[in-house]
Amino acid sequence: MKKKDQWYLGQQIEVRKYERDKKDWWFPIIVGLTILFGLGAILFSCRSDEVYAAEVWKITSYCACQKCCGPNAQGITASGKKVSEGMVACNWLPFGTKVNIEGLGVFSVQDRGAKSLFGSKTNHIKHLDVFLPTHKQALKFGVKYLEVKII
Ligand SMILES: [Zn+2]
Repeated sequence: MKKKDQWYLGQQIEVRKYERDKKDWWFPIIVGLTILFGLGAILFSCRSDEVYAAEVWKITSYCACQKCCGPNAQGITASGKKVSEGMVACNWLPFGTKVNIEGLGVFSVQDRGAKSLFGSKTNHIKHLDVFLPTHKQALKFGVKYLEVKII
């Protein structure tokens, strides 16, 4: 074999080795990521089935007045925003959580209010306070029991 051919063969082997190494390096990562995403999707769907199933909650309403929010009412929610329609008060859901109240639409948790969990330790009745612009509307709203879904 000529020296030039030997060099050429050597280069080819080097290239193949390099390509094989490259493939070996990527392959487990791709397989790993695929499994990870698959498991994540399965876990997420199980979780959403359990936690986000609709159930009946107690729904009341409040406005920004002193009767509803006490003598220090400022029209500012517990999350620091100006009260506006589309907001609800709940003591145990994080700010920004979106809830879909049957027949009323989607609301965002922006305030803290009265006790939000009633009933016994094993049978919770969850409570949401819906913000309405006037006290009259809040009174008229009264107490409702509606299906709520956390979205
Ligand atoms: Zn009021």
